[in-house]
Amino acid sequence: MKKEKNNQITMCPLPYAEDALEPHISKKTIRYHYGKHLATYVENTNKLKAGTEFEDMPLEDIVKKATGGLFNNAAQVYNHCFYFEGLNAPGKGKPMPKTLELIEATFGDFETFKEKFTQAGTTLFGSGWVWLMQKGKKLEIIALPNAENPLKEKKHPLLTMDVWEHAYYLDTQNARAKYIENFWKVVDWKVVEGRLK
Ligand code: MN
Repeated sequence: MKKEKNNQITMCPLPYAEDALEPHISKKTIRYHYGKHLATYVENTNKLKAGTEFEDMPLEDIVKKATGGLFNNAAQVYNHCFYFEGLNAPGKGKPMPKTLELIEATFGDFETFKEKFTQAGTTLFGSGWVWLMQKGKKLEIIALPNAENPLKEKKHPLLTMDVWEHAYYLDTQNARAKYIENFWKVVDWKVVEGRLK
């Protein structure tokens, strides 16, 4: 019996078809982003944790405790699953009631929140992630470089946006701002509402 097969980190299922986010995010992008980039992070995480103290840990614990290459790969698995699971077919529109209430309490209105989140994404230098986090009744937007995420800071994430070039280069090339505009059209606010504490 091969014990190592039981504790492998696996791909989170893509909760929609590869072309479900078109025309905002193309099938080709999903095919590479989910099918190649995420798959590589999953594979590397499994290789790097094998035979170490992290071998039997759940993904979130690895993210909180590991450093270096293992942290980078495990965090990228976590971040990408959180990202893909927060998107859905276009046309869902605006935040649901409880999310909207928190957005309005923190930012005044949805448009202001959207502007601030967008700005955090356009001004983040290089690769990284923009996170919407919840702390009690308050929300917070934070831009983090590379594979970083809020788990180490014990903050509760609600939504994330990948601004690595591989998230958009096939669709909008250098135009990150255009990708962010498209991102808003495919956020699944029902999922965000479900993540509220
Ligand atoms: Mn990515």
